[in-house]
Amino acid sequence: MNDKPVREYFHNIWKTVYTILVGMRISLKYCFAKTVTLQYPDMAPALQPRYRGFHFYEIEKCIACDQCAKACPVDCIYIEKSGPRKLDKTTGIAVGGAMTRYAIDYAKCMFCALCTEPCPTDCIHMGNLHDMSGFDRQSMIVEFTELATEGLQTPQPIWMQRDRLPEWAKETKESWVAFEHSDDKLTGQPEARLEKMRGALVESAPPAKKK
Ligand code: SF4
Ligand code: SF4
Repeated sequence: MNDKPVREYFHNIWKTVYTILVGMRISLKYCFAKTVTLQYPDMAPALQPRYRGFHFYEIEKCIACDQCAKACPVDCIYIEKSGPRKLDKTTGIAVGGAMTRYAIDYAKCMFCALCTEPCPTDCIHMGNLHDMSGFDRQSMIVEFTELATEGLQTPQPIWMQRDRLPEWAKETKESWVAFEHSDDKLTGQPEARLEKMRGALVESAPPAKKK
């Protein structure tokens, strides 16, 4: 009697089971691993120090040179100004034309950070906010010039605009309002900075020429 078909039959079953086990090796490993559930937003997410989140933008230092927009691979930065702007080196504040628009379309942004590299005044940074939701595509466009009127350098997610917040979210929000991300002499002086931020939205005299 020829037992080859029987052997082939069981061999095929073994091959099937073996290839499934090989394919599922990684998944199986995770099936038996300890699960970690983070109760977000009650608990703070563990973000790495170099995490690239929604931008921080220091409008008062921006000279509207378009370098960030030109570096952006998906053309999602929109800049408009009423005239040329120049950095006053004595104050570290940009003067001249008004910033009429600085917006980023986060429906397109891929958080590559290429826009932060060429900025001559170091005023656009990747932030630590990872969460922003909206009800339509239009709400994904963040108008940083409008945020500046409220003294904000970065957008806030809808849920963070509530009064009752978990402790970590309260601290994060306070650090944004205190401008702790700005590494200059106005850090810790929110009122003075707010005045400078609003100053970027109107035209100002160019810096006096040194004799
Ligand atoms: S992070 Fe990248 S995609 Fe987003 S605005 Fe900057 S350059 Fe453009
Ligand atoms: S590169 Fe910097 S200074 Fe120039 S427009 Fe962009 S943010 Fe403003």
